[in-house]
Amino acid sequence: MTADATGTSEEAARFQALLAAFEGQPAATAGRGKDAVNEPMIRHWCEAMGDTNPAYCGPDAIAPPTMLQAWTMGGLSGHSDRSTAYDELLTLLDGAGFTSVVATDCEQEYLHPLRPGDTVAFDAVIESVSPRKTTRLGAGHFVTTRMDVRAGGRRVGTHRFRILKYAPAGRPAQQREPRRKAATLRPRPVVNRDNQGFWDGVRDHRLLIQRCTSCATLRFPWLPGCNSCAGSDWDTVEASGAGTVFSYVVMHHPPFPAFDPPYAVALVELAEGVRMISNITGVPYDKVRIGLPVQLEFLRVDDDLELPVFRGGEA
Ligand SMILES: [Zn+2]
Repeated sequence: MTADATGTSEEAARFQALLAAFEGQPAATAGRGKDAVNEPMIRHWCEAMGDTNPAYCGPDAIAPPTMLQAWTMGGLSGHSDRSTAYDELLTLLDGAGFTSVVATDCEQEYLHPLRPGDTVAFDAVIESVSPRKTTRLGAGHFVTTRMDVRAGGRRVGTHRFRILKYAPAGRPAQQREPRRKAATLRPRPVVNRDNQGFWDGVRDHRLLIQRCTSCATLRFPWLPGCNSCAGSDWDTVEASGAGTVFSYVVMHHPPFPAFDPPYAVALVELAEGVRMISNITGVPYDKVRIGLPVQLEFLRVDDDLELPVFRGGEA
């Protein structure tokens, strides 16, 4: 197999077809949680997260939904349920030079709460293998697995997990400049089903706020449900763009490559009442003040990224 970074497009297409054949194959079958859902693990989790929600303790406790993966993890001794297909896929990628691995992101969906005493079972499938992508780490393929978690015979949640198998980028002298340029790219927002509408709005230069259709409470940032009435239906209202600085910090350290300290990070209260974190433009960092009136504008950061920011006016 020579479908490495220097392979021809024909070789790359052949290699991609080999990878695509793994889509839909099992990544883990008939997995079982090593421990039943239990109060000690819930308590440790809540302490580590600083989550004091009363729903997670007492006689009617449920497990925090975000613990979903914890109940499926194999610990140091691992699980014996990993499929041969998944191992074969990783071996194929290793053989083509994509020997490094990094976890990139996960998405979870919660269908029913887990409670102490529930026993967890799961299956995982190789959902997709991306075409070759060039990343800052090096060229590679994203592998997405989807785990369906069940308890008491019903599906309680879905855990989607994505890794990048990549060939570490070399550091020849002529590559140094482009690599440094790439490293200064501003971080990308994570766009998912819960916040897609917000970023669609940004694309159209509209700042959209979610509004609960049951109780009319506005919410920001975007969430799947209403914190006021737990309603799941919503529509949007477009922000007028007027706001004031509710609070702010000035970042001096640590320096991040994409940013140029010192700079102000502001919590802006919109005229509609919700608050969002953003940058203040048009005002030096040391002139940003609580109560400063600001007006929405859209900042073109680079070819692929535009962000809502706020231009400071007269205090
Ligand atoms: Zn509501």
